Amino acid sequence: MVFSREKIKSVQEALLDAKLIAVIGHKSPDGDAVGSCLALANYLSLNHPTVEVCMPDAHPHFFNWLTGADEIMNLNDHPEKTMEVIKEADVIFCLDFNALNRLGDKMEHLVRKSQAFKVMIDHHLFPSDEFHISFSDTEACATAQMVYDFIIAMGHKKYLHRSIGEAIYCGIMTDSGSFRYPAVKAHTHEVIAEILKLGVSHERIHESVFDTNTLSRLKLRGYATNEKMEILPQFATAIIALSESELDKFNYVHGDTDGLVNVGLSINGINKSVLFKEVDGIIRISFRSKGAHNPINELAAIHFNGGGHANAAGGRWEGKLEDAIEKLKNVLPEFC
Ligand code: 5GP
Ligand code: MN
Repeated sequence: MVFSREKIKSVQEALLDAKLIAVIGHKSPDGDAVGSCLALANYLSLNHPTVEVCMPDAHPHFFNWLTGADEIMNLNDHPEKTMEVIKEADVIFCLDFNALNRLGDKMEHLVRKSQAFKVMIDHHLFPSDEFHISFSDTEACATAQMVYDFIIAMGHKKYLHRSIGEAIYCGIMTDSGSFRYPAVKAHTHEVIAEILKLGVSHERIHESVFDTNTLSRLKLRGYATNEKMEILPQFATAIIALSESELDKFNYVHGDTDGLVNVGLSINGINKSVLFKEVDGIIRISFRSKGAHNPINELAAIHFNGGGHANAAGGRWEGKLEDAIEKLKNVLPEFC
């Protein structure tokens, strides 16, 4: 039982006297991080005067339509305000990550130092023990789905309203590949059915997130597929690598390569796809694979300072783009 009565009671007690509550997500916040944090914050703020959402860095612009998105603080852009909230918070909810090192050095340090009661709600494998209370459901397709379950476990179904529902929908939709990954279960659709009853427009959410291309974004994706994709048939693997100068040429903004790694995976006969992207001098890597017996997170953890889910992981490389690609090619045989 993920949301046991005992744990829920501890959270209720911690919330009782809380004056300031912080809800935080991981570095490079995605739709599930933003959606789950805003859903929880919008719910908590019904009963608590001050609830703030903080992220280590900015979220992509196509989540700006979510209620409360314009009030999210991020440590990069608003260092003083964000530091103060984390320092002063009585309770910190940690959403969509299961170890403090997913926050990046600066934010990790702040949260570690904080005296707040820390509650984790997350669906990644191997949760750490850095939290006072951990709600871990590694079978959930999204943290946002867990936020719904949390609100129900708190006995507060009556508090659900449309903007909470929109944020939950957004988190589930983005983390489940629009309801197609194996982690989508009957329960996922039950949660969505309840959310639609709140007046949520699924059509508007899909449009707001997926139909916001700029011409340069589309051209970048075309260039990546047309000129930069390398297929390694012997390893059933597709690779795309984009340097900082290539990204600049297409006026890259945060979020422009989201989902691009899945293009490689959609090729017949390919079961692993890797996207390398050089941003701010660091190589960010996205890994995807297909099949229960073809995990990619171990490769990400052992060789690229990362981790994640069995079939969707991330990592980083400090060094040259070419060296990162070469490293991948050298270690791939061990994982095929
Ligand atoms: P993405 O490729 O979308 O950035 O990340 C895919 C998945 O891997 C996400 O679930 C994300 O939470 C996880 N992930 C990304 N980067 C890291 C990392 O550096 N460490 C760990 N443990 N997980 C990561
Ligand atoms: Mn997630």
